[in-house]
Amino acid sequence: MMDKLYNDIINGKRIGYTEAIDITQKQNCEAICVLANKLRIYFFGNHFELCSIVNAKSGKCTEDCKWCAQSVHYKTNISSYEIISKESAVTQAINNQKKGVHRFSLVTSGRKINEKNLGDILEIYKDISDRSEIHLCASMGLLSNNQLIELKKAGVEYYHCNLETARSFFSELCTTHTYKEKINTIKLAQEIGFSVCSGGILGMGETMDQRIELALELRSLNVKSIPLNFLMPIKGTPLAFSENMPDEEILISLAIFKIINPEAKIRFAGGRHLIKHLQIKALRAGVNAALVGDLLTTIGSNIEEDIRDISTEGFKL
Ligand code: SF4
Repeated sequence: MMDKLYNDIINGKRIGYTEAIDITQKQNCEAICVLANKLRIYFFGNHFELCSIVNAKSGKCTEDCKWCAQSVHYKTNISSYEIISKESAVTQAINNQKKGVHRFSLVTSGRKINEKNLGDILEIYKDISDRSEIHLCASMGLLSNNQLIELKKAGVEYYHCNLETARSFFSELCTTHTYKEKINTIKLAQEIGFSVCSGGILGMGETMDQRIELALELRSLNVKSIPLNFLMPIKGTPLAFSENMPDEEILISLAIFKIINPEAKIRFAGGRHLIKHLQIKALRAGVNAALVGDLLTTIGSNIEEDIRDISTEGFKL
């Protein structure tokens, strides 16, 4: 059955909700990962993309996303600051490029940034462009049309806006903004000419069926870069006591995103130090991109170690 499915998918078939659920329930983990890996090879060969982020504005966010350390609704231990200094951001971009990272994103806390912050951000992008060749990305919330246009003019290629979880689960995790607002931002960014990077956080209490729902939603939005994070429970947030996902469930989740979205890069993102023991298996489950280095408010990864594992698996950076 999986060989036939492989042939069908490379010939243009895309699987639906019931079929995806069937696969996760009836096939074993190895068979699901093998299919995802074959699809990755067919659609992308051995190309692997590395990206990195810097928290360009931290904390004091008015939104109530239950997983997030930066929300003012929860008592957490993070440092808050307005826009990061230009020198610090530019130095990180240059250093990451030297280490072999392809993309660099400024990420800001909050529903969206204000005009003053945007002005500072645009200057940082200009400096990074002048002093490096790293590709630029941005993740700044529910921006307006004009704000997105300003970012595009500054050379930003990818706009990142995670859907975070399934539509049917989102309102249980966040009440201060809606799924629809996120989708509107994604569509706006696409209309302006950005490639969109959008994925989610797994392990927040959603079911496998809801992960499939998210994967299908991303396909319907034509998203070609899907970052998948694994929840790192943060003290003080409502999800502080969430349990880690079992290993097989992690691998099946990565693989089913790939099987549903064969033409998208599946990007290994946050939470990786919790599942470091699975890194190699994940690289054989359809993953062909990764967020490396320091993350926003949680521990990131070691770029050199990541590059070693990725190269050993036969990928080309
Ligand atoms: S995820 Fe973004 S919008 Fe939600 S609380 Fe954190 S910083 Fe705010």
